[in-house]
Amino acid sequence: MEKKDIDWSNLGFGYHKTDKRYVSNYVNGAWDNGALTDDDTITMSECAGVLQYAQTCFEGLKAYTTEDGRIVTFRPDLNAARMYDSAKRLEMPAFPKERFVEAVEQVVKANAAYVPPYGSGATLYIRPYMFGISPVIGVKPAEDYQFRMFTTPVGPYFKGGAKPITIKVSDFDRAAPNGTGHIKAGLNYAMSLHAIVTAHQEGFDENMYLDPKTRTKVEETGGANFLFVTKDGKVVTPKSGSILPSITRRSLVYVAKEYLGLEAEEREVYFDEVKDFAECGLCGTAAVISPVGKIVDHGKEICFPSGMEEMGEITKKLYETLTGIQMGRIEAPEGWVHEIKL
Ligand SMILES: *Cc1c(COP(=O)(O)O)cnc(C)c1O
Repeated sequence: MEKKDIDWSNLGFGYHKTDKRYVSNYVNGAWDNGALTDDDTITMSECAGVLQYAQTCFEGLKAYTTEDGRIVTFRPDLNAARMYDSAKRLEMPAFPKERFVEAVEQVVKANAAYVPPYGSGATLYIRPYMFGISPVIGVKPAEDYQFRMFTTPVGPYFKGGAKPITIKVSDFDRAAPNGTGHIKAGLNYAMSLHAIVTAHQEGFDENMYLDPKTRTKVEETGGANFLFVTKDGKVVTPKSGSILPSITRRSLVYVAKEYLGLEAEEREVYFDEVKDFAECGLCGTAAVISPVGKIVDHGKEICFPSGMEEMGEITKKLYETLTGIQMGRIEAPEGWVHEIKL
């Protein structure tokens, strides 16, 4: 298979149409067989449930080339399970988990020419999503749904090294205590746009959201979970029912314990404790970990000892171990690396 002529290392994070996408329709109470298609457009009723009441959820994962030339994805079964939970919470028919993984295999295989070569830092981003497609005007779930999965090549997240970022403590809330913060719903992102645009205008890279009930505990950013390191080298990550359960964060906690022999705990983290941590990072599929150098709370600065030039020492070890596992340089735990057989 000949790779596409793309300047992989200079790709940004944007949509770049690839050859094939996967589509399955839920009609008359059942999912059809699903198929790959060349058609990158969707035609639907002007009254479709997704357009009126935002009945939609999504996932995000990556395919990439390992050191020994295999094309793989990372723990796609967990994306399948999380999308299942998201669909249930939004009263959508869940897409079967085995079929989700099969769709990943089909769509990556069909677009293998777009999977960036090893060492380029680029990856093929996979975007599964589903939405209510039949007309809905009275508030209720749609009757019919569409599940789709497209791919788009994306460039290296860190161009020229991972520079620590500055984030602000947001006055906006991301998710209500018994709301939808724990599922990957488009609606969580729609309402975060004003907060992130505002933060960017003020010169910050990201928002730290606090728990909306007491505003004393750390939740997450708009699209990544927090990971802290204490001064005595323990990994701490916030626990809350309204945080999206990041697959990267869960994998990093495992890596901390099982590969690096560190103590790691998921527990409530009070904002008051943050000033005492040694390192801070944001975890998600896009970057694996983005180091945080500074957190600003209404003019009061918390500067981590790791500084604004480099990743903290333990953050860096976590990053290198997990990316090493993903790229096939370090042996992976059973089931983590899912090869796409061409
Ligand atoms: C997707 C997402 C994450 C990161 O999850 P990964 O599975 O690691 O990519 C974190 N927070 C939010 C709100 C998200 O939507």
